[in-house]
Amino acid sequence: MIKPSQRGPQRTCAACRKILDQSLLVRYVLSPQGEILVDYGRKLPGRGMYTCCDTDCLEKVVRRKQFERVFKGRESAPNYESLRQSLTDQLRQRVANLLGMARKSGEVVSGSRLVLAELGRLPGLCLVLLSKDLSPAIAAKVNAAAEVRGVPCHVLFDKERMGQLLGKGERSVVALRCGLLAETISHEILRYKRIAGEA
Ligand SMILES: [Zn+2]
Repeated sequence: MIKPSQRGPQRTCAACRKILDQSLLVRYVLSPQGEILVDYGRKLPGRGMYTCCDTDCLEKVVRRKQFERVFKGRESAPNYESLRQSLTDQLRQRVANLLGMARKSGEVVSGSRLVLAELGRLPGLCLVLLSKDLSPAIAAKVNAAAEVRGVPCHVLFDKERMGQLLGKGERSVVALRCGLLAETISHEILRYKRIAGEA
């Protein structure tokens, strides 16, 4: 959620012409090699072009050859599918980074036993991540407990990667305590799912 004090510069989506805070849009730049790059973190130098974080708007700018117009034909023809894939990867990486931050600030509970215990006891968890390779029996159990509490469950990583992000061995169930970080992570996961075609 963006508070008025966090408002940054406004930018226009090249596809639908919506004007939004730049943090809500996806930035694209031209690499020195003439390749269109997705710059989700808005860190790369040079002139940028923006779209909504939305496959429709991305597809539109590719189809209408708007990258070619903005970058004056100095780029190799951009490919919708590879841009979408790159954005998906960057969104997943963003969630991974945020999860690392949440761990450092003590907002993560991990392990199916602990997560189930907290789900049963307190209304303090806001988000559950299940690993891709979690056993179906445990997945069903955690899903059911989370549903009772109205806590959403998402699947983005395998258990090895989740463990890595938490500086531990394999972790197949991870939950976030309610707070600003959990809110931000939920927001990024929804964006990820929309771009990955899972929502
Ligand atoms: Zn748009």
